[in-house]
Amino acid sequence: MPHPIFINNEWVDAVSKKTFPTINPQDETVITQVAEGDKADIDLAVAAAKKAFHRYSEWRKTDASQRGRLLLKLADLIERDVKYLAALETLDCGKPVKNAEGEIYFATSVIRYYAGKADKILGNTIPADGEVLSFTLKEPVGVCGQILPWNYPIPMISWKIAPALAAGCTVVVKPAEQTPLTALAVAALAQEAGFPPGVLNVVPGYGPTAGAALTHHPDVDKVAFTGSTEVGRMIMSAAAAVNVKRVTLELGGKSALVIFNDADVDKAAEIAHGTAFANGGQCCVAGTRTYVQSAIYDKFVQRATELAQQRSVGNPYDDVDQGPQIDQDMFNKVLGYISSGKSEGARCVAGGDRIGDKGYFIKPTVFADVKDDMKIAREEIFGPVQSILKFDTFEEVVDRANDSNYGLGAGVITNDITTALAFIKHVRAGSVWINVFDYVTCQTPFGGFKNSGIGRELGEEGILQYLENKTVTISLPKKPI
Ligand code: NAD
Repeated sequence: MPHPIFINNEWVDAVSKKTFPTINPQDETVITQVAEGDKADIDLAVAAAKKAFHRYSEWRKTDASQRGRLLLKLADLIERDVKYLAALETLDCGKPVKNAEGEIYFATSVIRYYAGKADKILGNTIPADGEVLSFTLKEPVGVCGQILPWNYPIPMISWKIAPALAAGCTVVVKPAEQTPLTALAVAALAQEAGFPPGVLNVVPGYGPTAGAALTHHPDVDKVAFTGSTEVGRMIMSAAAAVNVKRVTLELGGKSALVIFNDADVDKAAEIAHGTAFANGGQCCVAGTRTYVQSAIYDKFVQRATELAQQRSVGNPYDDVDQGPQIDQDMFNKVLGYISSGKSEGARCVAGGDRIGDKGYFIKPTVFADVKDDMKIAREEIFGPVQSILKFDTFEEVVDRANDSNYGLGAGVITNDITTALAFIKHVRAGSVWINVFDYVTCQTPFGGFKNSGIGRELGEEGILQYLENKTVTISLPKKPI
């Protein structure tokens, strides 16, 4: 039986009765069929979310503190089912089960953080000119369409729904077609937690159909999206087509990690390896451009090569570092980048090929002597490929690090505080790390400069994206009363 869609706290088939398969990337078999949401299903989900947002609805009458309690309950239920959810996540997207489990705890930290914020959403009192009193109310933005990627399915649904629900919005979530299963499992837990009907709806389906219906819907007030820059642009223009939707976009990256001569080479190589290969390289903020200063370059390349060769890749239910890539398309795309690196003259010092002939496994690959104009240095590969580039001076490397259409993350490894602080000042990226990389917490805002997106998720900033400001001005009597 196909897995149904979740609308208005009910499990339903697609209006069209169509289904689509979700594939196990480890062995390319069909896990199950899932009801394929389309425009008609999005219309139903948005109608349910709109009704749940009506000013007299149960949800709108729910105290802010109670919204927080519902989110805390959801986090508890997710933790109760952590083993099941991690196993399901691994089945659907191939990541090592130990990583899936760690990500679920991260997701619950995000949900609890926003649960705590629900009744601390404050406006301002403003010393406006004239005989008036002015203040602002922060109000939920309304019905939100939330479109998810496949690389971190459970963290991504938490980043989207937790601030939205804490703010009092209602949501229609469209998970990535590659990984619909855990979003549906989270929907079941939200129902168990006691969210009223229509507050959270999950409609699996494809981007150009279900996704586009959501971004074009006139009753959707805001769209939040994580995925490719290419689709992000389409979403931004769709958001302006029939109304003026608020938009937050978390897009691609090509983050630079800059390692200076004074760094401990072993430690630096481990940090660089950790970020380039995390989640099989399927991470938007991965530090895939590794710039290494000339005096330590050769030693660094040798250490990076060893680390890549030692990285264990295989059955994600075993204790491995890396599972398969998400699907056939991404597998082909990553192998295409690897052959372009070879043909453009970069030196492939580790990996460079697939593993076996079943499942989307790729060897951890390291290219040395990469030049800035090579495709592997410019485009987001989204696979287990590290590009190492040599540099000489601070000024040169900052210019080169900034010479990218992306601006999601950047990092510097050095023991010289002046160099580190100058780097963070000059580099153009939404997250900048010193002597660490990819350190993301529920309390700290995350998002990109340039083509890496608009708006921020997580932290205080994350909930502001789901709130409108209402300015209230009251005339005061000019004479004593
Ligand atoms: P994508 O951007 O195509 O898909 C992401 C989500 O957007 C999915 O839910 C998809 O169904 C939906 N979508 C696609 N077209 C849409 C449309 N026209 N309207 C509305 N929604 C739409 O990403 P992908 O094809 O899965 O991966 C392609 C590339 O995206 C990757 O190679 C990688 O570079 C990048 N990516 C980035 C992230 C990230 O975290 N920033 C995550 C996944 C993929």
